Amino acid sequence: MPLISTIAKVHRWALYTKHPLFARAVAELDATQWYEPERIQKRVWSRMQSLLAYAYKHVSYYRQLFQEQHICPQDIRNPETFQHIPVLTKRLVRENQKSLLSDQIDMAKLIQNYTGGSTGERLAFYQDQNYWFYNAADKARCFAMCGYTIGDRVAYLWGADYDTPQGKMATLRDRLTYNRIWINVFDLDKSKFELTVERLQRFCPTLLIGYVSSLTMLARYLQKHRLTIPSVHAIESSAEVLTLSNRKLIENTFVCQVFDRYGCREVGNIAHECEEHTGLHILADNNHVEFLTAAGQPVTGGNMGLITVTNLSNYAFPFIRYQTGDLGRPSDRICSCGRGLPLMEVVEGRTSDIILAPGGKLLHGEFFTHLFYKLDAVRQFQVMQTSRTRLLVRIVWDNHPDAATIAFLEKTIHEHGDPQFEIQFESLDRIDKSASGKFRFTISEVPLEF
Ligand SMILES: [Zn+2]
Repeated sequence: MPLISTIAKVHRWALYTKHPLFARAVAELDATQWYEPERIQKRVWSRMQSLLAYAYKHVSYYRQLFQEQHICPQDIRNPETFQHIPVLTKRLVRENQKSLLSDQIDMAKLIQNYTGGSTGERLAFYQDQNYWFYNAADKARCFAMCGYTIGDRVAYLWGADYDTPQGKMATLRDRLTYNRIWINVFDLDKSKFELTVERLQRFCPTLLIGYVSSLTMLARYLQKHRLTIPSVHAIESSAEVLTLSNRKLIENTFVCQVFDRYGCREVGNIAHECEEHTGLHILADNNHVEFLTAAGQPVTGGNMGLITVTNLSNYAFPFIRYQTGDLGRPSDRICSCGRGLPLMEVVEGRTSDIILAPGGKLLHGEFFTHLFYKLDAVRQFQVMQTSRTRLLVRIVWDNHPDAATIAFLEKTIHEHGDPQFEIQFESLDRIDKSASGKFRFTISEVPLEF
């Protein structure tokens, strides 16, 4: 164990040396979080002006938008003038894929990324190297808030696909590089819980990271079987809203603090809890956040609003005033930790049910968002389990129903979900949110046997 920890530290040192841009982003974000709020804002608007000037010059979508709205990027220097720029919705990103790309980029150096989004609407988009360095630096800063230092053992309860190393060699390399393990939560069943706990007890992670519902399930299993994983000193939860009851369950079971993270694949980490747990610190020096009413005005009086983000580091495919589809509330409180980053609460976001497959496998909602990532023909989806064996897959098509996509979905759900599923497909013009206002991309009417 100490040897792998040392190798991981050496690797990080090599990364800093090899990529000075990364080292600079780490040093910058480490320092700016402690600035006074006014100094952070000054920095945000300086970076914003660079981004807006670049977008006007090199991104045809923004050039046309600014010209239509008579916006001159140099005039946008503060929150008031910034509001003149119309918001960017998921629909607009889908419809303007090509014109949102900078004319200065080398496509070979870009990373294409995907999301199932908070509203079941899939999106494909691009991120450049500058974005990835800042995003990695921001992740490192968030881990540090959890008390993690480079070389510490980390375990992920995650989905086994694009995010995770594939194959034995890649897994070994990942382990040596980052001193971490990945536990696939896309195919958990009762027998695998036992193995998962054994694996965690053997690996002794100090930091455990996972989807809220996976952490909750694991906590319930540990409580029921009177088991513990004493090595865990901190837990980072993400991807779903962390309710107070789930936080208490996880904290009481693992006897450690939970640090909630809010982010999305389009812009990376947006907000993260610090050791004082007074809300989530908006990582404003990399992602500028606004909270807007449905009419596009800033919310007032502690009300909640649509979370609208501008990423300050992705120049290849700028997300300027991008609406994530989640609801949050800004906070005026000052955190006693000393960071100048503002605080917020995430009120409503994505929510998913776990699907209990006929054979007993528990399918996490993220299994389905990841399944839909790369399907161009699909605009929006929702999966409903109406009985133990029946799945209803609702799809809003981009143009028209696509037989090859349906065949692919059927095959993949049978192969990686459960072969006993009877799958019915339904084509719709739109899929509405539930009465609570949340969009549920998986809904199960089958109670979980636990
Ligand atoms: Zn704080």
